[in-house]
Amino acid sequence: MPAVTPADVLSLPRVHDTNPLAAYRNTRRIVQATRQVEGEGFVVRRPFPGRLSLRDVDPFLLLDQMGAVDLAPGEAKGTPWHPHRGFETVTYMIDGALEHKDSTGGGGLITNGGTQWMTAGAGILHIEQPDEQLVMKGGVMHGVQLWVNLPAHAKMTAAKYQDIEPGDVKVVTNLNGDAIIRIIAGNLGEHEGPGMTFTPITYAHITLMPGARVVLPWRPDFSAMVYALNGRGTVGGDNAPLAEAELAILDEGDVVTITAADKQDGRAGNFDVLVLGGLPIREPIAHYGPFVMNTREQIIEAMEDFQKGRMGQIPAVHF
Ligand code: MN
Repeated sequence: MPAVTPADVLSLPRVHDTNPLAAYRNTRRIVQATRQVEGEGFVVRRPFPGRLSLRDVDPFLLLDQMGAVDLAPGEAKGTPWHPHRGFETVTYMIDGALEHKDSTGGGGLITNGGTQWMTAGAGILHIEQPDEQLVMKGGVMHGVQLWVNLPAHAKMTAAKYQDIEPGDVKVVTNLNGDAIIRIIAGNLGEHEGPGMTFTPITYAHITLMPGARVVLPWRPDFSAMVYALNGRGTVGGDNAPLAEAELAILDEGDVVTITAADKQDGRAGNFDVLVLGGLPIREPIAHYGPFVMNTREQIIEAMEDFQKGRMGQIPAVHF
């Protein structure tokens, strides 16, 4: 489990909710991720949209978990060149490395707890491929991609990137020092992650050791979801069981609680979750494949703009 894993967890700053009047959020719904084949043939687990409506997960659109999988040489696959418009893709690599290139000439390697935050805005073409070492030699690959919607006024903003290096992630712990809390974007109490978003969100990867409990202050006007990457435990004030590849949608309140089961099986030996939520956008959504807009006319316009090369060109390859 590389991600960002500090040797001395006890020395990290703590996050905890101390308000005695705080309302613990209960679970509204738990859904199982669906299995989906993407790109050149890699399998992802998709907690949403899947069985949920986009209203349930506002301001997010999609979450894909790639792996964790131990790939044989030659097995690692990626996506061909493809466009996006109208939202942001946030790729967080826990294990292994993913290389990306785009039509503006940008690109780089995302690895070991790093995040690439791509605001597609008005349009961009990009390609996402496992790095050459992983393709040649095989190895463990584990990452997630989150799609964050853009509000109508920002859908046609210029495309841009934020490269969040592993060292930029804000790492804190819980009251007992038996959980690693990595804040990728937004706030948990006074602690703030590096990702900048158009719509306010909080996005964190938490590793809970067996029996650990985290109590997180959560904005009452935010949606709240917990996705289990591996392991098992309980979530919410109602202590609902949550296991690998399950997503919990939480009800209103101002505290999110997660507890790891005392016994964990599986390779990781810990309970790893993503905790995410944000200010719902509450606007109409029209979507078609890689384009997410507000109206059908805007989708037709996006398809025309892509076909006419207005979202950029695939850069020439120089040998
Ligand atoms: Mn993409």
